[in-house]
Amino acid sequence: MPKISEDIIRTVIEHAKIEEVVGDFVTLRKAGVNLTGLCPFHDDKTDGNFIVRPSTLSYDRPGRNSYKCFVCDAKGGPVQFLMNHERLSFPDAIRWLGKKYCIDVDNVPLNWTPPPPKPVPPPPPPLEIPRSYVRRTIEIEQDRTVIFTYWLRGLPWDDEQLGRLQQTLWMYCVGGWKDGRVVFWQIDHNGIPRAAKLMKYLADGHRDKTQHPGWIYNQDGCRQQLDPEHHTILKPLFGSHLLNRYPQAVINIVESEKTAIIMANYYGNNDSQIWLACGGLKHLQLDSLQPLIDQGRTIWLWPDKDGRDEWQTVCDKLGYDKCRVYTHFFDTCWTPADGDKADIADIAIRMMGDPTFRPKEIKEKDHTPQGGDTETPCDPLKPKNVTDEEWFEHLEIMKAIGDYEIIYPDGEPFLPEDEMADPRLRLWREILRQRYNFKILNS
Ligand SMILES: [Zn+2]
Repeated sequence: MPKISEDIIRTVIEHAKIEEVVGDFVTLRKAGVNLTGLCPFHDDKTDGNFIVRPSTLSYDRPGRNSYKCFVCDAKGGPVQFLMNHERLSFPDAIRWLGKKYCIDVDNVPLNWTPPPPKPVPPPPPPLEIPRSYVRRTIEIEQDRTVIFTYWLRGLPWDDEQLGRLQQTLWMYCVGGWKDGRVVFWQIDHNGIPRAAKLMKYLADGHRDKTQHPGWIYNQDGCRQQLDPEHHTILKPLFGSHLLNRYPQAVINIVESEKTAIIMANYYGNNDSQIWLACGGLKHLQLDSLQPLIDQGRTIWLWPDKDGRDEWQTVCDKLGYDKCRVYTHFFDTCWTPADGDKADIADIAIRMMGDPTFRPKEIKEKDHTPQGGDTETPCDPLKPKNVTDEEWFEHLEIMKAIGDYEIIYPDGEPFLPEDEMADPRLRLWREILRQRYNFKILNS
């Protein structure tokens, strides 16, 4: 049998695209810069372990044009995939690829024809929850019957932190349910509410573990209206709606919504950093990180003490060079008295009561979470194109008018008509328009 020439082998290997070769056998979907599907080399029930690093990555990216399973450790390029999966010899794998990519290899017949592309039924439309639902749950929270936010308000915040707590709750659209459960909205980066998790907390701030979290689309009344059965349920990271508001900010991702709220209020969300939550150790999904990667954001993962290895694996699978696991907080702030079960929020709460510790002491090279500067506090509600002076004046005006907390100048997350219905906001718009010839308020 004639040997296949080196040149032809090289040409075939150059043309073979791992995503297409694996895609002939495995249904793949996008996951970050990679693709993922069920591993064909072990009895895989959960996708996300089998990662394909596509040929479309730049040449300097490690692992480009290869596959790897993080469970059974299967790995290789297009040729290895065929040799392992189809049990082909090396020359036959080259012939297979030659046939697929229309490259003449030799005259040795190969009993194979490329399979037709698998038809994939289109997924049902994604669920969009009306914004009026968000508003209604915030109104319930405002009635102060939600145990979680009641507890939160009683933490030993300093004056600055306490001063911004209501804004923090409100930025995250934290709501309440009729039965006292807290509602954590999952609003996507385009401002569309996709899901809301309902959680019961005890008076000590811990979750009532006897009850599983509920989802808004499964609640009585909501189920009929939202029809989750005929929709794709998306679960964006908690706080995703803040992404576009802070386009330059480093994204800190923690496990629980509670931790995100506490850390956001502790440091203050600002132009340099914001806090998002994935909902738990096991819920850091490649899908939900996609919008962050699309925006080229810097991502810092803040796992709790027992989650480091797992999140490091997610980070490795992601293969995104602007994502890393941040452990400095635990390394410097955890004490044995906190216990092995302590999460980030527990430590932050303990530090609140410790006057010798200030948030600014946390440092790591190029990423330093910062509290808002006390000289010029960074107000999360300040519109981008408003100067500090203008904003200060606005606050003075609003103080004179009354409570300014309920006004959200950028129109997110409330509907414009909500704002227009608020006479104080109309007055504010009018004052700003007259004084500063405002362009943001294009009404
Ligand atoms: Zn595997």
